Amino acid sequence: MADTLTSILKKLLNQPTAPFHEYHVRAQIEQYLLDVPNVELSTDAFGNLLATYRKGKHKSTPVWALGAHMDHPAWVKVPGKTDEWEFLGGVPKNLVEKKENIALRKESGDIAPWGFPVVFEDGKVHAAACDDVVGCAIIVAVFKELSRLGLDATVHAAFTRAEEVGFLGAWHLGKHWPFGKDAVFLSLETSRPVNGAEMGDGPIVRVGDRLSVFDHELINVLMRTAAEQGIRVQRCLLDAGACEATALQACGIRSVGLSVPLGNYHNLDDDQNIVSEYVDIEDVKQMINLIVALVATKHDGLGERTLEERVNLRMKEYKKYLEIGNAKYEEMTA
Ligand SMILES: [Zn+2]
Repeated sequence: MADTLTSILKKLLNQPTAPFHEYHVRAQIEQYLLDVPNVELSTDAFGNLLATYRKGKHKSTPVWALGAHMDHPAWVKVPGKTDEWEFLGGVPKNLVEKKENIALRKESGDIAPWGFPVVFEDGKVHAAACDDVVGCAIIVAVFKELSRLGLDATVHAAFTRAEEVGFLGAWHLGKHWPFGKDAVFLSLETSRPVNGAEMGDGPIVRVGDRLSVFDHELINVLMRTAAEQGIRVQRCLLDAGACEATALQACGIRSVGLSVPLGNYHNLDDDQNIVSEYVDIEDVKQMINLIVALVATKHDGLGERTLEERVNLRMKEYKKYLEIGNAKYEEMTA
């Protein structure tokens, strides 16, 4: 997987992207997935790219729909103007408009992302748009790995558009959910590690973001799968930003998130310079392993008893104690 992952990361991270101008990333993803056996591609009316891997009758419980967004904050041409640029996405205006920072952008047709090269160094990959092209690369790698292993599984994916301007693609996905009632949403993001999360300590099971908390049963399935597979994960509230799980959940779809710890979130270092973002490749690999295990496993009957089962057992176990306590109270109040 290692070689494939490196080449997928390199190819995808080299594509210029911006909100509404995700076509280069999208074309590269399509090229990767077109010839993968058991994978079907389609698009929705908003232009989100949808994919399903389906082999055999096996379905995990629940059925997972993976999600990652294809855009990243960048300069785009103002509609109808030939030489006027506007910055789309969450980076302070006073920073992006500094002269020395404007010099860092690299024009590519109607968009001008930050012109940083993709660099692999010391187990990390540095690039202009790890958020969330790394998430897209993870989905591609998961689908290729499922296919390589010939695993019986059903798993969906959505590569969304225009997340950076307020979840536009994710909102459309949630309002026109194409994956069926038994499918739940798993947002795959790169995020600033906060609240004890550390880069290099494994993928983060995201219990929530700045705007919402996520489905606790789905969180438990993720934690249990990681424990069963011996995959080190971090369970954290990542409230320095928001992710698409919040949008999908608001549309009534059960949702949860996984995050790869991200350095230089939205291209800002500690001194507010515009720089490359970076992630630890081992964190990315572990996230892929976790997702492959997640979709290839039937989770009912595995691991711990449900809370209801546990409470019912305790109720039986402590029945006598309860009766004695009740009798004492009756005595006292008689
Ligand atoms: Zn972002």
